[in-house]
Amino acid sequence: MGGTFDPVHHGHLVAASEAAARLDLDEVVFVPTGRPWLKHHKTVTSSEHRYLMTVIATASNPQFTVSRVDVDRPGVTYTVDTLRELRLERPDADLYFITGADAIEQILTWKDADKLWDMAHFVAVTRPGHHLSTEGLPADGVTMLEVPALAISSSDCRRRAGAGLPVWYLVPDGVVQYIAKHGLYRGLSDE
Ligand code: ATP
Ligand code: MG
Repeated sequence: MGGTFDPVHHGHLVAASEAAARLDLDEVVFVPTGRPWLKHHKTVTSSEHRYLMTVIATASNPQFTVSRVDVDRPGVTYTVDTLRELRLERPDADLYFITGADAIEQILTWKDADKLWDMAHFVAVTRPGHHLSTEGLPADGVTMLEVPALAISSSDCRRRAGAGLPVWYLVPDGVVQYIAKHGLYRGLSDE
């Protein structure tokens, strides 16, 4: 599951857990982006903070791991490169790439979109406020999956933290504490 995870929240975790159960996955690898190409105009928290928050959020689940492939690759992150590296690390794995309804809608605009379908199977999960449509995408390349609806976004968590509002119960406890400890999102100007 790729994402900016700025910060990781319970919407991500529920989607990953549901995909793992329903698709009988052995492992869900969370892959925080290095520099997300779609968010180049926005201020994104340093990749080390985002990586560590993802580690904290997933630490208690034996099925969840976090990969540094995107954080450690210099330059802008493209999913085609992510999948290439994950494949090299796991030559025999069946790879599934988990995305939310909003992300799958943009996938045709991603770099080398036509190559992606052969590199992994895509899973598009429902997300409140977004219409899940896989129109125009190869029918055998994408599985639609309804997951428990959590209307949580990282943008909203950042805004709340910036405004001094609580993010308790939107993100895992350890992530609330990490945000406070490092003063993340403080004085955030609106995006
Ligand atoms: P931002 O608001 O900064 O874009 P985000 O909440 O969308 O953050 P991302 O890191 O952009 O989080 O998302 C990573 C992946 O998780 C994307 O595929 C996104 O669609 C999916 N996702 C995020 N939040 C949810 C949610 N509440 N339910 C289901 N999928 C989600
Ligand atoms: Mg997003």
